[in-house]
Amino acid sequence: MNLIIHRGTHEIGGTCVEIATDETRISIDLGMPLSDPRDKAKKLKNFSLIGKTVPQLIGEGVLPKVSGLYWGVGKEKPVDAVFLSHPHQDHYGLFKYILKDIRIFLGEDTDKMLQAAEIFQGDRIGEHDDKVLLRDREPVSIGDIKVTPYLVDHSAYGAMAFLVEAEGKKVFYSGDFRGHGRKKSLFEKLLNDPPAGINVLMMEGTMMGRQQEDTWTEDELELEIANEARAHEGMKLFICSGQNVDRLVTFYRAAKRSDSVFVLDLYAANVLHELGRKSLPIPTNGFKDVKVLFTHHFMKRLSMYNMKNWYERWRPYEISPSALQRAGKKAFVMFRDSTTHEFEKTGIPKDSVLFYSMWSQYALEPSFEKTRAFLERHNIAFKELHTSGHAVLGDLKRFASAMDPETIVPIHTEYPDDYREHFGNKVHCLKDGENYSL
Ligand SMILES: [Zn+2]
Repeated sequence: MNLIIHRGTHEIGGTCVEIATDETRISIDLGMPLSDPRDKAKKLKNFSLIGKTVPQLIGEGVLPKVSGLYWGVGKEKPVDAVFLSHPHQDHYGLFKYILKDIRIFLGEDTDKMLQAAEIFQGDRIGEHDDKVLLRDREPVSIGDIKVTPYLVDHSAYGAMAFLVEAEGKKVFYSGDFRGHGRKKSLFEKLLNDPPAGINVLMMEGTMMGRQQEDTWTEDELELEIANEARAHEGMKLFICSGQNVDRLVTFYRAAKRSDSVFVLDLYAANVLHELGRKSLPIPTNGFKDVKVLFTHHFMKRLSMYNMKNWYERWRPYEISPSALQRAGKKAFVMFRDSTTHEFEKTGIPKDSVLFYSMWSQYALEPSFEKTRAFLERHNIAFKELHTSGHAVLGDLKRFASAMDPETIVPIHTEYPDDYREHFGNKVHCLKDGENYSL
């Protein structure tokens, strides 16, 4: 068996892995890098991919060199299958360049998240008609390679790790995971009953350089938010990813503790609805203290996609601007920069606060300027309350020791050289594109 990490041995984001036998070749994830491959200090967002050909993007290092993966590069033997671990841009962001007839394997929930992301955010993963939906611990075979998905705890709902078996060898790809979220039982389950005889463990290490970051559990975060809410008389706005289901639940529970109405936007409401779990806080599941805010921006998008039913279904639970104004200080409301207009129409009570619940670096980007200006205009306090989607060092150690592989290969980390100090001599650092035989 041959293993190549095309990208991800020395960076977070842009992950792409290839695993091959003599007969079969699969790849896992094909993410958008977070930094410019030509100058790692620069953000990739500063330059556009629009109008560039696949050979140009390969030349610039944006697309990793994987033969037979992309359209527009002539005749190469195609990859037999592509796997996606979870719906985060840094794992699927370049899928639109994948040959259309390659079979894509992804979790059911990941598929639903991607559909919503396309409609609401315009994030396209391209047209892949040949999709197979994976279920937890149900293996699939591609030629002589067997892949078993494992649901994991991560900030993307339905995220999976993959066990890849072929030619008598076993490789485990951790994907992104943590042990302190609302699905930490998945983490414990894997620790209690790990697959035996793993030869290589590719383990993410996002938090290796961020040991100082706060890592509350979602329950602790919920209490912090409820506490902070008590300190502000006005409306409670919050920003988090519409796909971060754990966090939406955390905000809902904090709102309940504060005796407030919980207001979702159309994106988040539809994500929770599509997942089809009765426990999720949406009005159609009988949660009477949850309302939906209709905003011009999202209604326009839904009309454009002929998806009017995605707002019509919420009509009975819509919160009008006047109702929101009445709720005022007793409201937890999801905020986006595309909704400043609606909030300004409603009016913002004195001593309002915005809870920012994403990675702190995103708030430093130029795209956050519009929100900052809005906060300043209305004298709204800014309070960062977040916890990571990635495992802390202690949990990485527990994970590595339970999986007990022959070799640990660092991935999705900026600090691969620190692995040896924490995980011992088993650690083997690869370079991007290096061939590793086992
Ligand atoms: Zn992720």
